[in-house]
Amino acid sequence: MSTASRNSNDVAIVGGGIGGLTLALALSQRGIGCRVFEQTPDFAEEGVGLQLSPNATRLLDALGLGEAVRAVSVRPEAIELLDWAGGRRIFRVPLGQSCEHRFGAPLLTVRRKALHAALVGAIPEKSVVMGARLEALDTSHDHVTLRFADGTAHTAGVVVGADGLHSVVRHLLAGDALQYSGKAVYRGICASPADGIRVWTGPGQHCVAYPVTADGTVSFTAVVAGAKELRASYNGWTPELHKMFDAAQSLRRWELHDRPSTRTWVSTRVALLGDAAHAMLPFLAQGANAAIEDAYVLAGCLAPSWPHEVTPALQRYQALRVPRATKLQAEARARGQHAKPRQAATTATYLDKQEWIFAYDATSSVNQPEGASR
Ligand SMILES: Cc1cc2nc3c(=O)[nH]c(=O)nc-3n(C[C@H](O)[C@H](O)[C@H](O)COP(=O)(O)OP(=O)(O)OC[C@H]3O[C@@H](n4cnc5c(N)ncnc54)[C@H](O)[C@@H]3O)c2cc1C
Repeated sequence: MSTASRNSNDVAIVGGGIGGLTLALALSQRGIGCRVFEQTPDFAEEGVGLQLSPNATRLLDALGLGEAVRAVSVRPEAIELLDWAGGRRIFRVPLGQSCEHRFGAPLLTVRRKALHAALVGAIPEKSVVMGARLEALDTSHDHVTLRFADGTAHTAGVVVGADGLHSVVRHLLAGDALQYSGKAVYRGICASPADGIRVWTGPGQHCVAYPVTADGTVSFTAVVAGAKELRASYNGWTPELHKMFDAAQSLRRWELHDRPSTRTWVSTRVALLGDAAHAMLPFLAQGANAAIEDAYVLAGCLAPSWPHEVTPALQRYQALRVPRATKLQAEARARGQHAKPRQAATTATYLDKQEWIFAYDATSSVNQPEGASR
């Protein structure tokens, strides 16, 4: 038998990932009621790491979550590029205080589940419904009804699809398909002392490792081509890498996909956010950072006239976010295909290359008068 709940004055967020939970926090701070519907029965997800760059940490600060996130993160002192065979250092760029000083917010590395827990702890209790897998949406002129796999339904004023790479909401809105990159990554966690981000680079692939806790836990991501296995792919690479692979407490393979860029992220009462809107390859480490930007901007667009004028607010969100996300997607694709870090990156140029990404300030983007957005 189906049950239904109704609140046409709230926002229903499909997906309790980084993007969905950040949106729940941003909306609740602006006094907009919301409910997050998450398909998994609990949040026991794997503990891989994330780099949070200043474009996102300044928003977490603005949302009052900065201290809680700093408490569970590491501020890496530097990024080093290392040669694949002997592990020789090609360059080292200081991050830490100098990066924070330059961009006004820190670059942090964190276990995904720690960031997730900080977000869950900051949103109103009972705003997340677990085990709710969205299957369909019915849209009318003044509300949207969400239909879940267990036969339940919920009616809301706006629905936000923050349901990730395989988004059902995206499928209902755009109906396009994922694009396979021909590459995969192995991600793992191991005990290893490190105070910075290390990138080993060699023919056709690279491996990134960074600390995610202050007591010596490192998260690594190793790129491989096609169906190749991890150790075989890194045969002949520095023994330090193989030590890390052997010590991995959890090792999981991800096939890498993104989505074609689209200019349509919204309909009258439905919007996409995060990977559902702009799934990107991980070579820029910006997917979650961009989802946090989306969430901040979407809440800022909805707030002034909520619960009225919803469609213009969603269109403003789309106008503010599509150009930025499309540029990030394209850059992530390009860096994956044409990664030539030996030539391209030097101490002087590394942070300059990141400038347009790290310096971006979504707080001022959403505060711009309408029409001033690019
Ligand atoms: C190897 C790798 C490394 C990465 N490194 C970084 C990094 O360093 N920095 C960075 O910023 N990004 C990184 N990313 C990207 C980042 O992980 C994603 O972009 C980010 O998690 C997207 O957040 P999201 O909230 O949009 O989606 P997700 O985090 O995927 O969350 C989607 C949620 O929706 C739920 N869901 C799905 N379908 C339904 C449904 N039908 N009904 C209800 N719930 C549903 C899912 O269970 C999930 O909880 C990396 C990605 C990869 C693959």
